[in-house]
Amino acid sequence: MLFEYQIRVSPQVASSEQDIKAYLIQEKGLDAQSLTAVRVLKRSIDARQRTIFVNLTVRAFVNEMPPQNEYVSTEYPNVEGKPQVVVVGAGPGGLFAALRLIELGLRPIVVERGKNVHDRKRDIALITREHKVNSESNYSFGEGGAGAYSDGKLYTRSKKRGNVEKILNVFCQHGASPTILVDAHPHIGTDKLPRVIENMRNTILRCGGEVHFETRMDALIIHDNKVVGIETHTGEVFEGPVILATGHSARDVYRWLAQNGVQIEPKGIAVGVRLEHPSHRIDQIQYHSKEGRGKYLPAAEYSFVTQVEGRGVYSFCMCPGGFVVPAASGPEQIVVNGMSPSSRGSKWSNSGMVVELRPEDVDEIENGKLKIENDHSDENPQSSILHSQSLKMMEFQERLERLTWQQGNMRQTAPAQRMVDFVHKKLSFDLPESSYTPGLISSPLHFWLPPFISSRLSQAFLTFGKHSHGFLTNEAVMIAIETRTSAPVRIVRDAATLQHVQIEGLFPCGEGAGYAGGIVSAGIDGERCAEAAAQYLQYRRY
Ligand SMILES: Cc1cc2nc3c(=O)[nH]c(=O)nc-3n(C[C@H](O)[C@H](O)[C@H](O)COP(=O)(O)OP(=O)(O)OC[C@H]3O[C@@H](n4cnc5c(N)ncnc54)[C@H](O)[C@@H]3O)c2cc1C
Repeated sequence: MLFEYQIRVSPQVASSEQDIKAYLIQEKGLDAQSLTAVRVLKRSIDARQRTIFVNLTVRAFVNEMPPQNEYVSTEYPNVEGKPQVVVVGAGPGGLFAALRLIELGLRPIVVERGKNVHDRKRDIALITREHKVNSESNYSFGEGGAGAYSDGKLYTRSKKRGNVEKILNVFCQHGASPTILVDAHPHIGTDKLPRVIENMRNTILRCGGEVHFETRMDALIIHDNKVVGIETHTGEVFEGPVILATGHSARDVYRWLAQNGVQIEPKGIAVGVRLEHPSHRIDQIQYHSKEGRGKYLPAAEYSFVTQVEGRGVYSFCMCPGGFVVPAASGPEQIVVNGMSPSSRGSKWSNSGMVVELRPEDVDEIENGKLKIENDHSDENPQSSILHSQSLKMMEFQERLERLTWQQGNMRQTAPAQRMVDFVHKKLSFDLPESSYTPGLISSPLHFWLPPFISSRLSQAFLTFGKHSHGFLTNEAVMIAIETRTSAPVRIVRDAATLQHVQIEGLFPCGEGAGYAGGIVSAGIDGERCAEAAAQYLQYRRY
């Protein structure tokens, strides 16, 4: 027999099956001999009051055993010889698109500019060791995309629980811990993600799909407003409708689209810094205890949001017990981001602290002069204006990233300032120890960040500090610059068919297309694009 209970217990009780069983026997009167197992179905921490509780939904198995698989498996048939769909990019968008195509009986041809997830690690290490960024293999490019070396947080604002659960179950089927199905704020961790990603690739190959690493799409092949395939830098051509899942850092793809008259439009982004605290300080604040998190609680999370002068300022992609990482995707730029291992056990906790920016703000920030430093415009003045308009957010990101690199002594050494010093407009005399391995250099961020951003950040920090005593502290360091919060461009698609508004057979997908933000939502969008491509091929076949 099965029984379900909602219980509210101490972190210690919630930490082991034995303790939960003992609790059910005592509080719910279950018989110790007949209670064979308990499984946690949902878990969330309630840290609003001084005493911390864990809310659990548990299933008790009385005189029966729990099922062996704790997740729902998807069947992946053999698709050799079936019609093919080209998937450009092996990030979460592309990988989930490829797997869904297989489910639907179509053959995915995945084309990825970066290396496989294993070989990619060496290039990532070189960023720290030699301050060299390989433009084809880095924190953004390579198998697993931007999601591979990340925190692997799997929460999303998507309201469609069914879609979210499908993505989580596919992750479990490929080796992620089934606890991600249970936790209110699930995450996989950067140490576990590569194996899961490899397993997803192996499913694609086993079923007859193809995966081509170190193969960059250089052009879409378009005949009469219809995509029929892609050209790659190796000279190989792949034919079929195209799911374009190239992420938000593929600036060459955006430029190609703009230069070739494929409709794109500028999209709002958020820009700011990574803020890093000692994780113990965040634990103390969030768990209301000098002792911090103790033995049974995870590294604490936080989330802040406020409005300053008409723009949102908020924490983004918080990584408790994590690391700040050098996430540039090319030379002469500094971009920071955050990741955590599954244990979330580092000495630091970080998050992006960013200010919302709308396309019209960029004109204000730059005082009306839309000066394009790296001018890639073509000869046609009309097209050049349209081009620079559609790419203006991206080019603004580029300028900020280059400025930050210059402030960082033209290496990956990131300019940084203590939090209170920043608010008081004071250069930091020294900097605290940090998880950012290429190193920090003290820099007056209050002086050289655009005032549109720095003054809003400063006011927001005062608000957050009032709300959370101890948060505004000189133990915390701001590390510049966080620019890649979302795509600076939208590749406009039709809401019903998911095809590009102008180009038949082209399915802009995931974060880079401006239709997702995060691993799970990119995965969901990948699945939807695969379904749309299948629909499109049926129209063509019958
Ligand atoms: C350090 C870091 C930490 C993050 N942490 C989290 C987190 O904890 N939780 C979360 O939800 N999100 C996180 N994110 C964001 C998340 O990774 C992205 O939202 C997600 O990966 C987007 O998926 P995507 O498939 O749309 O694009 P991407 O993951 O960016 O994948 C795009 C892929 O396309 C490839 N590509 C680009 N151009 C070409 C081309 N011309 N030819 C062939 N291939 C090409 C790239 O190499 C890349 O592999 C993090 C991002 C970073 C950088």
